[in-house]
Amino acid sequence: MTTPMRKQYLRIKKQYPGTIVLFRLGDFYETFDEDAKTVARVCDIVLTSRPVGKDQRVPLAGVPYHSVEGYIAKLVQAGYKVAIVEQVGEVPARGLVDREVVRVVTPGTVVEPSLLEERRNNYLAALIVDGKRAGLAYADITTGEFAATQLAGGDVIQLICEELGRLRPAEVVTCDLELAKREQQRGSLAEEIALTAYDRWRFDLDTARQALYDHFEVASLDGFGFAGLPLAVQAAGALLQYLAETQRARLAQLSSVRTYSTEQYMTLDAATRRNLELTETLRRGSVQGSLLGVLDGTVTSMGGRLLRRWLTQPLLDLARLNRRLDAVQAFYGDTPARTRLRDLLKAVGDLERLTSRVVQGIARPRDLLGVRQSMETLPEIQALIAQMDSDAEALRSLGSLDPCQDVVTLLAQALVDDPPAVLSSGGVIRPGFSAELDNILASSRDAKAWVANLEGQERKRTGIKSLKVGYNKVFGYYLEVTKANTDRVPEEYIRKQTLVNAERYITPELKEYESLILNAQEQLQDLEGRIYAQVLEQVSAASGRLAAVAQALARLDAHAALAEVALMNRYVRPSLVEDGELRIVAGRHPVVEITQREEPFVPNDARFSQEEAILIITGPNMAGKSTYLRQVALIVLMAQIGSFVPADEAQIPLVDRIFTRIGAQDEISAGQSTFMVEMVETANLLNHATVRSLLVLDEVGRGTSTYDGISIAWAVVEHIHNHPRLRCKTLFATHYHELTQLSELLPHVRNYNVAVAEEKDRVVFLRRIVPGGADQSYGIHVAQLAGLPKPVISRAEEILQELEQEARAPGAARRAVQVRQLPLFATRNPALDMLLELDVSAMTPLEAISKLYELKTLASPD
Ligand code: ADP
Ligand code: MG
Repeated sequence: MTTPMRKQYLRIKKQYPGTIVLFRLGDFYETFDEDAKTVARVCDIVLTSRPVGKDQRVPLAGVPYHSVEGYIAKLVQAGYKVAIVEQVGEVPARGLVDREVVRVVTPGTVVEPSLLEERRNNYLAALIVDGKRAGLAYADITTGEFAATQLAGGDVIQLICEELGRLRPAEVVTCDLELAKREQQRGSLAEEIALTAYDRWRFDLDTARQALYDHFEVASLDGFGFAGLPLAVQAAGALLQYLAETQRARLAQLSSVRTYSTEQYMTLDAATRRNLELTETLRRGSVQGSLLGVLDGTVTSMGGRLLRRWLTQPLLDLARLNRRLDAVQAFYGDTPARTRLRDLLKAVGDLERLTSRVVQGIARPRDLLGVRQSMETLPEIQALIAQMDSDAEALRSLGSLDPCQDVVTLLAQALVDDPPAVLSSGGVIRPGFSAELDNILASSRDAKAWVANLEGQERKRTGIKSLKVGYNKVFGYYLEVTKANTDRVPEEYIRKQTLVNAERYITPELKEYESLILNAQEQLQDLEGRIYAQVLEQVSAASGRLAAVAQALARLDAHAALAEVALMNRYVRPSLVEDGELRIVAGRHPVVEITQREEPFVPNDARFSQEEAILIITGPNMAGKSTYLRQVALIVLMAQIGSFVPADEAQIPLVDRIFTRIGAQDEISAGQSTFMVEMVETANLLNHATVRSLLVLDEVGRGTSTYDGISIAWAVVEHIHNHPRLRCKTLFATHYHELTQLSELLPHVRNYNVAVAEEKDRVVFLRRIVPGGADQSYGIHVAQLAGLPKPVISRAEEILQELEQEARAPGAARRAVQVRQLPLFATRNPALDMLLELDVSAMTPLEAISKLYELKTLASPD
């Protein structure tokens, strides 16, 4: 026999397979059965049990309703989906209260501020793959961003991985789960992305299109740019359905959808993003130490999110880039205005997410206050920008922004200046806003005052000095008189309760005031709730205008931040050109120049032209080759997000893709140290680079033996040089000096090396890139620098000499090997010799065992 509630639970649970069901029971959210075990483990809470019938118990784990957010966070972060079941409707006198799922929380659909990263979008993506084409849509329900694209090409899987690598969604819903899982296993899709299977029929063109029609209340999708992009429609429609299912609320914050093409942006594959440490470091995955860590000087979270988007999406459009650069330059040149603006922006909250919360109907009083304060700052910001001496388009357009005076006025009139955190505590609506509310408040206040006066008044009237007025939950207000004074109690007092040494009384009048007070409280809550909802509704109606302001302020913040960082770090405005020479004068690595304390950073030039397209950089280990390579790539990338660059001068022709490939050993930290990965990535580069790409190859070929490595590296450079589709700007760092010979054979290859000076047997790194190939590898000098014991160093020098002689006179090979092995033989354990002499196939098992014993004694020291 199961209880009716158990039945109710099981019915709901069945509708949400694979989801943890949090079942509201009074002041707790309970979980049962397997869910309970999971919750207990993940959230580190006690697992108990609960009777569900005569003699049956099930596992139970519960969390208090007021702290549920933290537990949801833990579960979602651990990769679970959580369905929240609330009591709905009135509690019936008999029987069970109705319960239903009000929301399903998944990684891509969280809205709780405590579960979100402020400076980062939380995207949900939907993906469908269809042969050589794919549809991809993504949305951030906390900001209202919603976009879709269609990918096509021979290597559509790779395009998908690149785009998902850029977006880094928290969750991807897809009808092609197996495919996505495989890419995750192969490492081409980030492991942290939660993958959710979603029915294929949700992606059907008709179903998906209808979902979009219904949501946007339109009869055609062409206005959004969907024409000719059926897969984009399918992905976007499925995404909407999934959101509708999990949110079970209006999705009005997704007020529009944008279609885009990945071809508008510079393509950066996962390896390149990682190697260049754009948004996180290789080692610790932290923003600090990445390019974003240096460039993100924004003061608002929405500005921070925007800058991150810019950084992951460099542009290919000269005009757009120059518009950004114009705005950055305007702030660069006007420090007073920039400083003032940044001060003002600090008063601006996360208007983007606040607006979205308003639209979703979940904005709390302080969220509305945030909207008001943010908007109140706008006119001042507009005035400030207007008096700036700049005709940058991004700045001029700010003047036409609607300051939403109506919203500001409404909020100022409706809400108190310092509202409580939650609506239910009352005191949110400002006196004077609603006459009805004021009346109730006044009469409640009067009643309270009457009760407050009662004590003094009755003491005087009865002469009982110790008479008290009190309140408790059971009897409400009462008059308390000590036993000693009960004879002086007036006639109209009605005795209600007897205590050890006092009596408690009520009077009809007191009860009247009491009910006035209590009723007023209820009415107040009710009325405040209704007024609040109306205000929310009105603000929500202005959400489009608010969102426009939010976006404009985010842009302003990002522009001003780039200017601030540029000034602080002495950057210059790059001159962007469609084609031509790439020229960097005195360029620096934006991160190393800041984080390195031991020695001053040495700037270096870089120059690529038609004639000099491929630069081979040689030099000893630790000389600065890798740093130089990355610095060139980062400067180009910074220019193409509209940032100033760390150099004295830079001319950057727009680059369509940047590829960076790091020889296997350097990448151990990323957990992918295999030579195979290195080669797969190199193959990929050779297949996808164009004449407008920038290739950064750092010790490619190192992951295998020397001769293999040299041969592969050689062939790769040759291929880039000779293939008509390639011959693009290429930086190739290598410690194989053999490669310097390429410049003699291939007209567009040039040699450079990192200069070193020798000082009394020591090597000093000059950090300067100079023309010509390095003639020595200096490896032993580096070993010496690193503190290897003297005997090891001198022995290494000896061996090196032997080897070099051998290379010149091949006959000496045997001698060199012997020389190298000699020290090993000298210290060899006699057990080894015995072992080598054994004829295993001629031994009986018994003999083998006794030999083993012998060997063991021989091998163990004494
Ligand atoms: P390589 O790739 O040649 O082995 P790296 O590029 O890794 O050398 O550089 C080694 C170290 O030298 C870096 O970690 C950095 O601290 C320092 N370094 C590199 N380039 C410069 C420079 N231009 N100025 C100052 N220090 C530099
Ligand atoms: Mg290196």
